[in-house]
Amino acid sequence: MTQPEIRAVQGDITTIEVDAIVNAANNAMRGGGGVDGAIHRAGGPAILADCIDRFPDGLATGDAGWTTAGDLPAKWVIHTVGPNHAAGQTDRSLLTSCYRRSLEVADELGAESVAFPLISAGIYGWPKDDAIRAGLETVAAADTQVDTVLFVAFDAATHQQIEYQLNR
Ligand code: ADP
Repeated sequence: MTQPEIRAVQGDITTIEVDAIVNAANNAMRGGGGVDGAIHRAGGPAILADCIDRFPDGLATGDAGWTTAGDLPAKWVIHTVGPNHAAGQTDRSLLTSCYRRSLEVADELGAESVAFPLISAGIYGWPKDDAIRAGLETVAAADTQVDTVLFVAFDAATHQQIEYQLNR
């Protein structure tokens, strides 16, 4: 196994053509705000139906699991639950676990390309600089068969911050 190539991309993760996109979900896994809402809206009801079927009890914080991607260009959605910093969950190992577990699930699926949003950096309030660092360092150190990992930022400022840290 080798380390994946990492690239920063600006845009809407629901439009990215990769094998798997990662969703910053919550423990209930029944949809939500932010990127979670965008993925369920764009992918259609098949994603929620699969979440209910395959994850009757939802997911633990730091864990990951896959569903169909419904109408999205990706083949799978890998759902992961980041720590809610705004609610006092500040254990960084939970955040790095999200990236590690998502890549393990990608390996189970045989996904070669994976796109991540910046987990916990939105509604869950993880300080953005450290959220970027945690994601980049964890993926860079991962032992995975995934060959390409995209970090997708919605806005230009976040995208530039990711590019800056990636090229240091
Ligand atoms: P969390 O609850 O884990 O903080 P959010 O969805 O609130 O998750 O935010 C995670 C990150 O995803 C934020 O940086 C947010 O700007 C970004 N984001 C929101 N919608 C999209 C989208 N459609 N594509 C890519 N990134 C998005």
